[in-house]
Amino acid sequence: MSSLDGAVAIVTGAGRGLGKAIATELANGGAKVVVNYSKSKEPAEELVKAIESNGGEATAIQGDVSNPEEAEKLVEQAVEKYGKLDILVNNAGITIDKTMKKLTSDDWDKVVSVDLNSCFYTFKPAMEHLTESGGKVVNISSFVGQAGNFGQANYAAAKAGIIGFTKSAAKEMARHGVTVNAVCPGFIETDMFADVPQKVVDEKIVPLIPLGRIGQPEDVAKAVKYLCADGDYITGQTLSVNGGVYM
Ligand code: NAP
Repeated sequence: MSSLDGAVAIVTGAGRGLGKAIATELANGGAKVVVNYSKSKEPAEELVKAIESNGGEATAIQGDVSNPEEAEKLVEQAVEKYGKLDILVNNAGITIDKTMKKLTSDDWDKVVSVDLNSCFYTFKPAMEHLTESGGKVVNISSFVGQAGNFGQANYAAAKAGIIGFTKSAAKEMARHGVTVNAVCPGFIETDMFADVPQKVVDEKIVPLIPLGRIGQPEDVAKAVKYLCADGDYITGQTLSVNGGVYM
C-alpha cells in the first residue's frame, strides 16, 4: 500500500506536459487527482480517462489559476468532489521570452501572474484543508529561477519568487504539519521546449548537461511523487531535477 492511497491531489495545468506526468504519477501511486486545465479541455479529459482505465480516480476541472476567484473555485470544487485535500502541486506556467529591451510591462505581468501569483492564489484557499490533512505542497519553479537566463527576466523573476514564497509558506505551515517544497526542473522535453531547434538542442544545450540528455516529464514527476509520498521531514527545500545543468 502506497502512502498516497486515498490522498486527494490538485495538479494545476495538468492537461499536458509536466503536469500530465505529475498527475499520472500521483494517480499511479493511488491518489485521486484533480486535473486542472485552462484551455486544454480535451487533453485533460483524455488524461482522466487514461487514469480511470488504469484503475485510478481523477476529475478534470477548468480554471485559470492566474485569476484569484477561479483559483479559489478550483480548490472549492476539488474539496466538494473528494471531501478533502492532501496535495497541491502548482505546476501551471507560461513563458514570453524577450530581451529586456523588447519586454513590455504586459509581458512581465502575464508571466508573473500565471507562474508566480497563481501559487499564492491556490495556496490561500487550500491552507485550511491542507492543515486538516497535514498535507504536502509542491511548487514547480525552474533552474532559470536559480541561475537567470538571457531573454527570460520575467520568467526568472517569477520562478525565483516561487522559491522565496515556498520557504516562507514552509515556515508558516510547519506547525500544522504541512510541508511546502519547490522543484526546479532543468531542460525538460514538453511543448514549452518544443520550439527550440534540434540543432540548438544537440549542439548548444545537451553539452551543458552533465548527465548528457534532455529531461523527460517523468523525471520531474518522480521527484514530485517522492516529496508527496515520502517527504515527511523535508520542507522549505528546492529540489533540482536538471541533469546537473545547474549545481
Ligand atoms: P507546457 O507543456 O507549455 O504546459 C503548460 C501547462 O500550464 C499547460 O498544462 C497549461 O494548461 C498550463 N497553464 C498555462 N496557463 C495556465 C493558467 N492560467 N491556468 C491553469 N493552467 C495554465 O509547459 P511544461 O513544460 O509542462 O511546464 C510545466 C511547468 O514546469 C511550468 O511551470 C514551467 O515553467 C515548468 N518548467 C518547465 C521546464 C521545461 O523545460 N519544460 C523547465 C523548468 C520548469 P492549458 O493548456 O490548459 O492552458
